[in-house]
Amino acid sequence: MATLKAAHISIRAGGFTNLMSRPRRSVSVRASDRLLTRQISTEAEAVASRLHKSGLLRTQGLIGGKWVDAYDRKTIKVYNPATGAVIADVPCMGGKETNDAISSAYEAFYSWSKLTAAARSRYLRKWYDLLIAHREELGQLITLEQGKPLKEALGEVSYGAGFIEFSAEEAKRVYGDIIPSPLADRRLFVLKQPVGVVGAITPWNFPLAMITRKVGPALACGCTVVIKPSEITPLTALAAAELSLQAGIPPGVVNVVMGNASDIGDSLLASTQVRKITFTGSTAVGKKLMAGAAGTVKKVSLELGGNAPCIVFDDADLDVAVKGALAAKFRNSGQTCVCANRVIVQEGIYEKFANAFSKAVQNLQVGDGFTEGVAQGPLINEAAVQKVESFLQDAISKGAKVLLGGKRHSLGMTFYEPTVVSDVNGEMLLSREEVFGPVAPLLRFKTEDEAIHLANDTNAGLAAYVFTNNIQRSWRVSEALEYGLVGVNEGVISTEVAPFGGVKQSGLGREGSKYGLDEYLEMKYVCLGNMNSN
Ligand code: NAP
Repeated sequence: MATLKAAHISIRAGGFTNLMSRPRRSVSVRASDRLLTRQISTEAEAVASRLHKSGLLRTQGLIGGKWVDAYDRKTIKVYNPATGAVIADVPCMGGKETNDAISSAYEAFYSWSKLTAAARSRYLRKWYDLLIAHREELGQLITLEQGKPLKEALGEVSYGAGFIEFSAEEAKRVYGDIIPSPLADRRLFVLKQPVGVVGAITPWNFPLAMITRKVGPALACGCTVVIKPSEITPLTALAAAELSLQAGIPPGVVNVVMGNASDIGDSLLASTQVRKITFTGSTAVGKKLMAGAAGTVKKVSLELGGNAPCIVFDDADLDVAVKGALAAKFRNSGQTCVCANRVIVQEGIYEKFANAFSKAVQNLQVGDGFTEGVAQGPLINEAAVQKVESFLQDAISKGAKVLLGGKRHSLGMTFYEPTVVSDVNGEMLLSREEVFGPVAPLLRFKTEDEAIHLANDTNAGLAAYVFTNNIQRSWRVSEALEYGLVGVNEGVISTEVAPFGGVKQSGLGREGSKYGLDEYLEMKYVCLGNMNSN
């Protein structure tokens, strides 16, 4: 192993500085990685410079419309997962900054919630237009800090911006109700009102879309927000927040703090001014937040981990099933909550499917996300690779066979070979927990009932996929699956116009669609009595 000083650029909080001349973080890189690292770093440098020029490379938190450092000036580093190079230093904030962000959001709530729905809609529309106008830069930023291929990153920008556009439209349709009164001298109304200040905590795997999916509907309903993005990918969140300011959204409506996750989380939970927590992330942290929210009886929405089954029946169209399973499994290098975690294949088509699927997986090009044609970038960090390795080791020790891949990629760093494993059973970690990496485990089944039992035999219940050409079966199985989303003959089903969310321990509530707005609204019943008096 050779050691290469790989941090080619770094951007300090409060400004952009090319730090070629400063002491650099040493990253251990194999000799074969050198060329790759050089290419990526040049690209990264160009991207950082473009972002800086467009004013989108923000490296401070946003509180009450002002860009601020951590009060004690502490910073954390943001890395490019493809190289280990430092992209930027951002503030490592905690409870004090969070409390100030909450106060700003609380102050802004009064005027923001009093605006007409049409006015809020116009602000959101303008924000959407700016997100789309800066699609290229935002996509590059996502690839830089998260690692996904640029094409996927650009897709995330369109998808993420879609939540803001949809929310701009739905803002005007937050209707109440008039209820026929059982008494002649009374009138009964239901008003829908914003819940108040929202704490929004998001993960690293969709640095933009997980934020817009929460903030769009929150703002549409009249709520204000304190966002806490993952410390691993805060730059996209900050760029989106900058665009919210450019759209004219008033100071304090959108605030961003990042850094010490548990301190920030505890402050959001403890505050009586925060009326709702919306969280996307792991089930373990979601459970902690749900318990913590009990102290002040806040509303809670949780989008947690999955363990998606992808069921391929004998009667499926093989090409459709391979294409669908490939997309459902390997998007974002297997690092999505809706990624197929178990490919459950009926015995009659098992061998054919395993061969065709392995061939398709073999064609996935691995590399840095900026290279044309790359379909799979690095995993987010070393811990993610080690998790994949331990799951695979567990499966092999219990009798699973590696058909393809099964080891770190020759590119080094956190690149991992797209992997297919056969003879997986329900006892193995690979089928019990989310692997969150590019490993497709194949399980075999005989009957429809067995497939449904296998699919439902988990505490998770987010996404499921079914491949069959039998229309009756597709209905039967969709109804029997204990999941919040089902894709039939389709591997990519997320869209801003449909409700997204899990059942069982995959979460509470829905995001996107007209239903997503309900999560940010309180219902108020008003009874007007004594109607017959003058
Ligand atoms: P994570 O570790 O739970 O982190 C998610 C967010 O919570 C991050 O911002 C993290 O901050 C923060 N956090 C961690 N501990 C906290 C605490 N004690 N109090 C408050 N906040 C805390 O999850 P992840 O590894 O980022 O994301 C992967 C997981 O998200 C997977 O399980 C995936 O399935 C799930 N996910 C679910 C959906 C869905 O819609 N259902 C979508 C995407 C991802 P730091 O990162 O700064 O530590």
